[in-house]
Amino acid sequence: MPRRDAPSADQTTGQRIVAGLAKVALVFRQAQWAASGGRGLTPTQAQILAIVAGEAAGGAASHAPMGVKAVAERMAVTVATASEAVGALVDKGLLRKKADESDGRAVVLTLTARGRREAANTSEWPVAIVAAVDAMPESERAPLLRGLVGMVRTMQERGLVPTSRMCVECRYFRPNEYCNEARPHHCLLIGAPIGDADLRLDCAEMEPTGKDAGTPTPARLWEVFVNGQPLDQHGPGREGRARPGVRASHSRRAGRASSKGVSS
Ligand code: SF4
Repeated sequence: MPRRDAPSADQTTGQRIVAGLAKVALVFRQAQWAASGGRGLTPTQAQILAIVAGEAAGGAASHAPMGVKAVAERMAVTVATASEAVGALVDKGLLRKKADESDGRAVVLTLTARGRREAANTSEWPVAIVAAVDAMPESERAPLLRGLVGMVRTMQERGLVPTSRMCVECRYFRPNEYCNEARPHHCLLIGAPIGDADLRLDCAEMEPTGKDAGTPTPARLWEVFVNGQPLDQHGPGREGRARPGVRASHSRRAGRASSKGVSS
């Protein structure tokens, strides 16, 4: 059998990752058009219906009425883009704008009866993408999510997407508190360990860190998260909370950090 040359090394790992993301984005867009186009909606309009319906049904921010700005943040688009799509949905009789009961100057979005029916047929996430993620082994999802968090954070810093409500920028997040590969982190709000697989990109309870004295800056929180260190030597257990697992020693953390580092 003729000997083959080694596969071409004309692309860096980074370029291959971007090529993979481009394929996912293509399927994402095609699935969105297929799901919404037959009903006379653009993917953006369909996604807004799903988001507003999700909020109405108790989604991530169900405690707060949702206006155009909140929709834009949730979709990571500009307010102008969301506003245009909302206007089209209002014209189509699928969405209604009404004054916020708690702030008469603010406007919140509600679905009309027809909008609710449309939303029932609309998923915020294309089924094909959800199926592909579901098909991944559990062990591959957590590192993928961790890497995506780093990417979203970088894009946020560069002003490419609106600020997300992520664990890695939350005052309640305590990275690397435990020597527990599955759940090394701690959420002070729920008082429980969480793992990379539990990292949130849009948590309704998130409160930005660094705004009050005594909370770490976002940069410091990110640094310790990436480097596999705890934030301090006291940790969430200082209030006497029972903790599963053993607090990580510095040397063990350092070893784990070298194998789990994420670049952004
Ligand atoms: S409150 Fe939400 S965003 Fe903050 S650490 Fe807990 S799960 Fe993460």
